[in-house]
Amino acid sequence: MVTAPSAKTPMIQFVERKACPACACTKATELLQMPLASNDITERIACWYESRVPQNSFEINSYVVLECQACSLLYTRYHLNDDAMQELYVHWIKHSTFDEAAETRALALVRRSVNLIRHLVKPTSGPHIRVLDFGAGLGLWAQEAMSRGEQVRAIELSASRVKQMIEDRGLDASQVLRADDVDFDFVYMSQVLEHLPNPLSILREISTRCRNGAMLLVGVPNGSRTRRNLSPAQLNWNEIDPLEHINCFNAQSMSAMTRRAGFRAAMPHDAQSLYGAGVLTTLWAYSYLTGAPGRFFVKADA
Ligand SMILES: [Zn+2]
Repeated sequence: MVTAPSAKTPMIQFVERKACPACACTKATELLQMPLASNDITERIACWYESRVPQNSFEINSYVVLECQACSLLYTRYHLNDDAMQELYVHWIKHSTFDEAAETRALALVRRSVNLIRHLVKPTSGPHIRVLDFGAGLGLWAQEAMSRGEQVRAIELSASRVKQMIEDRGLDASQVLRADDVDFDFVYMSQVLEHLPNPLSILREISTRCRNGAMLLVGVPNGSRTRRNLSPAQLNWNEIDPLEHINCFNAQSMSAMTRRAGFRAAMPHDAQSLYGAGVLTTLWAYSYLTGAPGRFFVKADA
């Protein structure tokens, strides 16, 4: 069901992207154009956001997917402007609620990646490893890292989630980075970069706050096969969609972006243990063979 516009509903505004948000190249190829009013799109948005999005108030008519001619990133030509983005993440989006079984499953995954921290980096300023969880969500990962004795900062766009992380989990959380957020040894960014209008500039900002040799773990939806399946009949909304997942990475575009932000691919010798080296090698090989974008990177010497 599409909500009819009312006099009170302001137009939902979009911003056009004139350059690749991962590598800044201005040459792009249009791969897909669909009317936002098409049934596929309106039904999906109504269903996914439980009819909270006033779709008749969109100021643009088309969903357009571009491919960067330099790094092969797929990205939407238009994204919501700041105000509409705020509406999306505060009011429209479905807030995941965890039941006990789901929390147990999520915790198992969280523990697996938190276990890796000490296999990959060692503390450089004092006894604690300085960890940044950027896009911390509900704070599960950050809390687990804190419980291992790491010094954790959690950054999250949503004010209510920040409040929850501070009050319920005792985390040092805020909506934006602070001046003293420097010298990080380990950065965790899971399910973040695909949402950002300017992922390269955020990554550059984070890079300046990392020590040389710091490890970055990036997780994004796997966009390695999206291009060949990109048609109105076969849209995979987890990989790219009109409102939320506005960047779709493969191994090549992720490498191009992280390199521009001052990171290089993590190598086995970067690890602190044989187990850590094994994990880095396995993930690198998986990415190399399949084109999957998520893996470890290292802040390179300036
Ligand atoms: Zn690019």
